[in-house]
Amino acid sequence: MKPLFELSLPDLTSVLKEWGEPPFRAKQIWGWTYQRMAGSFEDMSDLPKNLRARLTAEIQFTRLTPVINQTSKDKSTNKILFALSDQHKIESVLMHYRDRHTTCISTQAGCAMGCVFCATGQMGFDRHLSPGEIVEQVMWFARDLYKEGDKLSNIVIMGMGEPFHNYDATLQAVDRLTDPEAFNFGARRITISTVGLIPMIQRFADEHRQVNLAVSLHAATNDLRNELLPINKKYPLEALMQACRDYVAKTHRRITFEWALIQGKNDGAQQAHALVKLLSNPKLMCHVNVIPLNPTHDYAGAASERERVDQFKNILDASGIPCTVRVRRGIDIDAGCGQLRIKASNP
Ligand code: SF4
Repeated sequence: MKPLFELSLPDLTSVLKEWGEPPFRAKQIWGWTYQRMAGSFEDMSDLPKNLRARLTAEIQFTRLTPVINQTSKDKSTNKILFALSDQHKIESVLMHYRDRHTTCISTQAGCAMGCVFCATGQMGFDRHLSPGEIVEQVMWFARDLYKEGDKLSNIVIMGMGEPFHNYDATLQAVDRLTDPEAFNFGARRITISTVGLIPMIQRFADEHRQVNLAVSLHAATNDLRNELLPINKKYPLEALMQACRDYVAKTHRRITFEWALIQGKNDGAQQAHALVKLLSNPKLMCHVNVIPLNPTHDYAGAASERERVDQFKNILDASGIPCTVRVRRGIDIDAGCGQLRIKASNP
């Protein structure tokens, strides 16, 4: 069966043409899929019954099967472990804030980057997701919100996997999500996060997209970054920071740096000052997000205590580097990337 979310509008149009359907049908189905939030072909109530039946028989509406669906006690976070058609598993999260709803989606089943503190990194790489599998995760939560008369505010592409390791599929998914004829989502409300694949940062800069870029830094010296993020051995900090500076110069867009604070490891004054140095002279147009680590089974590091978080932030504040302390969400539902999948395989 053809998967619906792998079809472009011209693809769908030619399928419908082969079936002898009038030309407007493809647009009608497209509208139901991306804008009227149908959850199945049966929901497309103004299509003839026999066409709905044929679509159901010959085109696969969704390939996502929820295996675990958990909502945090405070109802702020909904995390789903999905099985794909080939039974590989991915995680997707919806986070509710006072004034917005943000989804965090995956681009790969597993991840090849091996960041030591990350549950997904600990499990290794299975495969890349297709553009449609990336889009489907967004549409899943968009439909849930639609039922409640609400809609998505932000999409962050920082779930399982390294998006820039699966660059083409990720950006094709972004194109579909931002296409005015499809989901019509604002590119400025999408953020892609990378651990620092320099050639892809350069490519992304050259494409001059409106999508936001976040770089997971986590350490400001090569020794420590090599230890935490093995990719640093291939793309060391000096080259990475130059790529980030080039990105900002080319796009005139602010870059975000992510920093998971690990007690006694990367949360001390020395690392904070080293970070200030990396981002200064000249000052880089950026924002730093710090978040206490989500502990994982195979990594001994713990989340930084409040006092150390504050000390770290104070050093950045004193140097005029914008910094926000993010709140960990969904700790009671294994909301850290990869944790739910590990739990499912070791119940
Ligand atoms: S932090 Fe991101 S890039 Fe690193 S191993 Fe985990 S999923 Fe992969």
